[in-house]
Amino acid sequence: MNEKSIDIASKDLWERAKAIFISTLVSEQEKSQAERYFGMISGVTSDGYSFRILTMNSLAADLLQKEYAEKLKSSFILAGADPSVELSFMYDEDSRPPIVTPHPVVSHQLSRMPISTFESTQPLDPNYTFEEFVRGPSNSYAYAAAEACAMSPGKLGYNPLFIHGGTGLGKTHLMQAIGNSIRTKNVSLAVCYLTAETFLNEYINSMKNSTITEFRNKYRSIDVLLIDDVQFLAKGKGVQEEFFNTFNALQQAHKQIVMTSDVAPKNLPLLEDRLISRFEGGMVQEIESPSYETRLAILRKKAEGMNLKIPDSALEFIADNIKSHVRAMEGALGKVSVVISAEPKLILTNEVLSQILKNLIEKEQTLKNLSIEEIQTAVAKKYNVTMAQILSSERTQSIVTPRQLAMFISRKLTTKSLKEIANAFDKKHATILHGVKSITQRLETEIELKNVLDEIVTSFGYKISDTMD
Ligand code: ADP
Ligand code: MG
Repeated sequence: MNEKSIDIASKDLWERAKAIFISTLVSEQEKSQAERYFGMISGVTSDGYSFRILTMNSLAADLLQKEYAEKLKSSFILAGADPSVELSFMYDEDSRPPIVTPHPVVSHQLSRMPISTFESTQPLDPNYTFEEFVRGPSNSYAYAAAEACAMSPGKLGYNPLFIHGGTGLGKTHLMQAIGNSIRTKNVSLAVCYLTAETFLNEYINSMKNSTITEFRNKYRSIDVLLIDDVQFLAKGKGVQEEFFNTFNALQQAHKQIVMTSDVAPKNLPLLEDRLISRFEGGMVQEIESPSYETRLAILRKKAEGMNLKIPDSALEFIADNIKSHVRAMEGALGKVSVVISAEPKLILTNEVLSQILKNLIEKEQTLKNLSIEEIQTAVAKKYNVTMAQILSSERTQSIVTPRQLAMFISRKLTTKSLKEIANAFDKKHATILHGVKSITQRLETEIELKNVLDEIVTSFGYKISDTMD
């Protein structure tokens, strides 16, 4: 076979394999991702047995290898390649590939758009997309803001975007959807996702290892900074200063910053005022607990994603009984899915479902029923103080500890809002948050306090890990 005929044959095979591969993709998201990845291929060569897929940069070779090697191989075989066909992906600087396959439009765009080789500090979950996010009254404003931000990163009015709300309500999902969407649309932008805790740790390490300059350069060269759970910044003055400077540098350069937190900026205790006012300077949106209809829609979407054949009545049962947060709803679906795959003929009556989801439902019940007063009483009893002292403003340590511990447990184990908790303690929001924070910090080092907490939450039927979210 001469070189030319190999080229034609391999080009044909590659085109067929690619078409087969794309036809197996179901969602628009998968298709556009594949298009983007294939756009990074500069050519294909073959020696008749193995195929070498050449890419425009080494990152693209890694990405393709990781994401598509397996699936592409099956497509090659379906397209007529020998079952022992081998595929390799490599970056070839001076390749003059015999077959150049990129779609003309894509290659045109790419020639103007260098692919960013920036690697996010923490990976984005490819499943956290806008398409997978169910929109409802509880999150529609946050969703719209996130979408606007993904459409035109850095746009005035949406920078920074600050999303806040309780645990498991979709903050991380929405934030990563912004990142995934921007990456799909604009391969040249450096998108970086990380939690504030990771930022803090990297900062501390860079101080220790005298690599602070590298650290700064890295975070100031980003186009889109997604920083999750910023309440962790409260942990240190130094890191706040560092973040403030990073923040300013990025904002001045019109780079997009997105943040999430469990509370609104103004309720972030121990955070410097100038940081809080910077956080409030763009767009602040809250995600609230989903209503029954939204819960049901989320369950339908998740069941579909898991390829789970489950009757609507069962989803309704879950939406009715698991309300605290979406993560718990996913847990419920997971349990049902395990049972269904073990016993496909099982009819999911409410009795059967109650049985399968017993633990989760019990937890919801206690979560719902546990009152702040019960918590205050139990803690007061344990510390041998009176209820009046718990509710007072006395600042003796022997009173402050039980008071703050009661605040901490109320925040973690009830579904009461911050406002309700503040009322029950006759204190301001910020005082409650400060109390919760203080206990959280002390629990890291004080074993005795941890034991007391363990004892009290166990008496309510919980595990200490339930308070660690
Ligand atoms: P948070 O960061 O607010 O604690 P996550 O973003 O981690 O919450 O969400 C928890 C889980 O619930 C994730 O698996 C996420 O996909 C899912 N989830 C939350 N809200 C929605 C929604 N509206 N639509 C689809 N999935 C959701
Ligand atoms: Mg989160």
